[in-house]
Amino acid sequence: MSKRLVILGAGESGCGTAVLGIKHGYEVFVSDGGAIKPLYKSMLDEWKVDFEQGTHTIDKILNADLVMKSPGIPDKAPIVKAIREKGIEVVSEIDFAAQFTSARIVGITGSNGKTTTTSLIYHILKNAGLNVGFGGNIGQSFAYQVATESFDYYVLEISSFQLDDIHTFSPNIAVLTNITPDHLDRYNYELQNYVAAKFAITRHQTEDDLFIYNTDDEITMANLDKYPTKAKKIPFSYDTMVEEGAYTHNEQIIINLKNQNQFTMSIQELGLSGRHNVYNSMAAGIVANAYGLRKEQIRESLSDFKSLEHRMESVTKVRGIEFVNDSKATNVNSTWYALESMNKPIIWIAGGIDKGNDYSVLEPLIRKKVRAMICLGSDNTKLHSAFGKMIDIIINTSNMTDAVKMAYSLGNSGEVVLLSPACASFDLFENYEDRGKKFKAAVSQL
Ligand code: ADP
Repeated sequence: MSKRLVILGAGESGCGTAVLGIKHGYEVFVSDGGAIKPLYKSMLDEWKVDFEQGTHTIDKILNADLVMKSPGIPDKAPIVKAIREKGIEVVSEIDFAAQFTSARIVGITGSNGKTTTTSLIYHILKNAGLNVGFGGNIGQSFAYQVATESFDYYVLEISSFQLDDIHTFSPNIAVLTNITPDHLDRYNYELQNYVAAKFAITRHQTEDDLFIYNTDDEITMANLDKYPTKAKKIPFSYDTMVEEGAYTHNEQIIINLKNQNQFTMSIQELGLSGRHNVYNSMAAGIVANAYGLRKEQIRESLSDFKSLEHRMESVTKVRGIEFVNDSKATNVNSTWYALESMNKPIIWIAGGIDKGNDYSVLEPLIRKKVRAMICLGSDNTKLHSAFGKMIDIIINTSNMTDAVKMAYSLGNSGEVVLLSPACASFDLFENYEDRGKKFKAAVSQL
């Protein structure tokens, strides 16, 4: 008799898992407490998956042999509690899918830089002619691709929510970009719970695997010994020379790996600018070198990679004023890197939903570089109290058009208007993409 697989949540990972379950002979039922998007509904119809929406029918869920919980559904949701109380095995999409592929997997997690690093690694592997898939927390789910493709390699972005329920997943290469406080509402406001989720990426790795991490990252380093791994540890650092791994010296990235010739590349030649992208490029460079790809080809791919939308995206110049869209900067750490990478006076557009931000780390950069600040949030009081004393001009706005117009009217030729909010977007926008698109639209109207 076929096993009953119940899936909670009909989004990208839930529907991908449903398709993979069907392919492998499971009796699949998908339950979504909200409305299912048309795209996913038609995917479920196409694969003849039984589903419900707007409710969770207990009887059709608690008779499962196996439950896959979508990462967006918190553990404290009553339906998840009931499932656990009954002792039903709960599996994550990533664990479920990994058992059906023998492809080599690169898994990337961290608080910031996941998408950029994942895209960079994919770009290098693809250019080198490997048969490689790209997805996970972005793009198509891992499960859907395992069901419908036959890749030899996967480059997967993996969020901490996805890692929460990992019991077996063991990527061939794991990358932890950095850890800064984020999403703490999901982790009982305990940083340690969030840290533990991030380190789960390496928990099941073996001696044959690699764990790549950032030695300049304080939280990573403070926790490295608390989460043992069998994988070979390969560090990267901006300032400190490492024996095996990557570092920078005289404006060059240097990568040394055992049994490999040294890899070097000038930082100036990188396609992505800013110190944070040197980190991302070092991590990607280690992966590519570990797979033994040609050094010339790795250099070429690291230099012709274009910046992603909403991440330090240079939009245009108007009257000599540059406009940069960094809407994806939804926390203080990513905004720190945006400010740090600027070498002209900044008119800074920031604000939104504050997730308990501590702005003090930004102060030295603000004092040095920010000439005026445009607050763009429904409540800007915290920004005023944090920066009121150090920025001469602080203006409140409540929509993107006004914010951009105001920034433009304050700006001089040779300056930059930087949207890098350090906050989530949901007070005034649908999401960070919507915020970034509205920024670009408003700039194009100037
Ligand atoms: P994620 O997928 O982890 O959210 P992204 O690559 O989408 O990361 O980048 C999110 C934001 O963080 C952008 O504003 C980007 O400029 C910034 N950023 C990218 N890489 C790093 C890094 N290594 N450290 C800090 N900030 C980064």
